[in-house]
Amino acid sequence: MARTLHSLSAIEVGVLKGVGAKMAVALEKVGVRSIFDLVTYYPRRHVDRTNEATIDEVVPGVETVVLGKITRVTTRRLRGGRVIVNATLADDTGYLDLVFFNQPYRERQLQGANDVAVFGKAEEYRGRFQMTNPIVDLVGATTGKIVPIYPQSQMAGLLTRDIAKFVAEALDRAGEIFDPLPPWVLSQFSLIPRDRAIKGIHQPETMLEVKVARKRLAFDELLRLQLLLVAEKVKREQTSKGISHDVSPFQIGNATLTSDFLDQIPFTLTTAQRKVISEIASDMSSPIPMHRLLQGDVGSGKTLVALTSMLMAVQSGYQAALLAPTTVLAEQHLLSIKAQLGNFRVEAKNDQDGMLFPIENRPLRVEALTGQTTAARRKLILKDLRDGAIDILIGTHALLVEGVEFQGLGALVVDEQHRFGVEQRSLLREREKINSGVEPDLLVMTATPIPRSAAMTVFGDLDVSILDELPPGRTPIDTVWLNHEELEEAGWSEVTGRIRNLEQAYVVCPLVEESEKLNTASANLVYERLSVGPLSGLRLGLVHGQMNDKQKNETMEGFRRGLIDVLVATTVIEVGVDVPNASIIIILDADRFGIAQLHQLRGRVGRGTKPSRCILVSSVESDSPAAERLRAVAESTDGFKLAERDLDLRGAGELMGTRQKGTTDLKLASITRDKQLVFAARNAAVKIVDRDYAMGSFPYLVNELTALIGEEEAANLFRG
Ligand code: ADP
Ligand code: MG
Repeated sequence: MARTLHSLSAIEVGVLKGVGAKMAVALEKVGVRSIFDLVTYYPRRHVDRTNEATIDEVVPGVETVVLGKITRVTTRRLRGGRVIVNATLADDTGYLDLVFFNQPYRERQLQGANDVAVFGKAEEYRGRFQMTNPIVDLVGATTGKIVPIYPQSQMAGLLTRDIAKFVAEALDRAGEIFDPLPPWVLSQFSLIPRDRAIKGIHQPETMLEVKVARKRLAFDELLRLQLLLVAEKVKREQTSKGISHDVSPFQIGNATLTSDFLDQIPFTLTTAQRKVISEIASDMSSPIPMHRLLQGDVGSGKTLVALTSMLMAVQSGYQAALLAPTTVLAEQHLLSIKAQLGNFRVEAKNDQDGMLFPIENRPLRVEALTGQTTAARRKLILKDLRDGAIDILIGTHALLVEGVEFQGLGALVVDEQHRFGVEQRSLLREREKINSGVEPDLLVMTATPIPRSAAMTVFGDLDVSILDELPPGRTPIDTVWLNHEELEEAGWSEVTGRIRNLEQAYVVCPLVEESEKLNTASANLVYERLSVGPLSGLRLGLVHGQMNDKQKNETMEGFRRGLIDVLVATTVIEVGVDVPNASIIIILDADRFGIAQLHQLRGRVGRGTKPSRCILVSSVESDSPAAERLRAVAESTDGFKLAERDLDLRGAGELMGTRQKGTTDLKLASITRDKQLVFAARNAAVKIVDRDYAMGSFPYLVNELTALIGEEEAANLFRG
């Protein structure tokens, strides 16, 4: 029988002929200890020597591979720190000039090198052919037509041909490699067997072979991740006990808190809101705990959906909690929820089903618990919370600390979840589960949408609802990019004009690295300059992260009530702040922000009916990566589109950072480039796990997952 890939983990690379003690150390440096590590140390690229040209065959403007030796390297340093490395590549037919900008290490790399493959487009320059910033590989004296190039081989003192040699010996001695996937998966997703894929990526004969090999191996990586996520989800659904909430009017149609609330809102729900609310209702009425992610663009009306789900818990005799990322947001939620539920009452009912209805009719009570809450007030809130005298608790991280005990938490909403880690969001639920044996329903909301392939990976253990529709009557936010001069000429006068028109404005200050102190200093400067300069005579307010929460809230409240015309702020206003009368936002040094952040900041305006404007201020060069981001934001106000663009430009690193488990396994696959494979892997994982999260019929897959997450966690997931 063929060997499993993972059984090769037990064999050290030292058994290979070419690998002595010194080489073993070098390999260890790139993370290769076992034969398994070695055969999954994939080439970072392949040089296709079938397209190879001799130097006299090079045609300007056409991409080619040329192989030769380096005869000359020189480095020039220009003023301003720029470095230019010139080199000459020679073969039997002639010479080719190579130019590298700002790659000073090229001198050392290329000095006297033989068997150098360069890949790029040559152009004619002063009568000679020249390649600018070509891809360079030291291929060694290889004979194959497709040459694998391994990562970081120079840094550790490893040549790519050494690795190729070790891999060849390892593959030879390993013999046939077992495929853990059932044939139906291979045929459904057009995948080649694992054995062929491993050999194909290391020793391909054609580029097509590389392509299909890569597809299979990347699929395997994504499938492992999805299997973990899907198994976790199915296990939770089958083993945990939740609450069957009364979700009327979606079930019966009696007057309930939920129906009263929906009746009194001064507008009609969007179709998307209605759909999402019914998805939530169906989750909440079921005894399987809800575990749902709500993705919605800025301003799509997530808060209303959240409040509806909290009321479903309250009308069922439970409490609800709303976790917000900042005190400013928690206070804003408190104000708006109190305003909307001001004269709501909760009714006493018989305690037949062990439910937790209040003993007497009383007004519905909403409270907030933040870092700003005084000790005395906090004590009171905690007591009333335990006694069931509080129905909805809003709070920041302060909700997560020990000592916050509910009488019966029925629903937990996590707003703008990117500020909270996976552990934090499960903390309250776990605590509830220990206290009462039942798990509250969970609704997680993202501030800014992320693409489906990413959501499926980062939040793959959650169900997903999408609010892909803005309420009617919104005027699109007109976004322009101005440089600093244009801002002085036209930007500030537009602000003054709008204030005269009784509208309000935000000015977002430059982001200075990660230091809150420097951000504050810059905000102070901007504030001072504007109040004596272009905006003198207007009522300016200032909020920044170094103010205490009380100061912040007072200023926010002043702005909300129209006592402040222009709010100068750092990114503390980034998420959620809702002042519909504000119609213009000026973002200074916008190049310092990412796409998601700019979109989120822009979402502070366009919340009312007034035509709104966003001015991105930046003097960056138009071919810089920052300019790419600014153009993207100026061109589209669709958060879902921008999220795709952002992921393409930036890669998935940061997103994935929020969920470590299993992601280290992604050596070949990328959730950006391989979106279709992510969907395929999800699809396959759902079919494989089906209803059996222990995956009894797939012992080899379980073995691989165990190797990935460790014995303990695997035992927990697949058996415990
Ligand atoms: P976000 O999804 O960014 O959290 P909010 O929930 O803050 O958005 O809603 C943005 C604004 O839109 C709020 O002022 C809210 O009252 C309003 N709103 C929500 N739903 C609707 C609707 N169906 N029709 C009109 N306005 C709505
Ligand atoms: Mg919101």
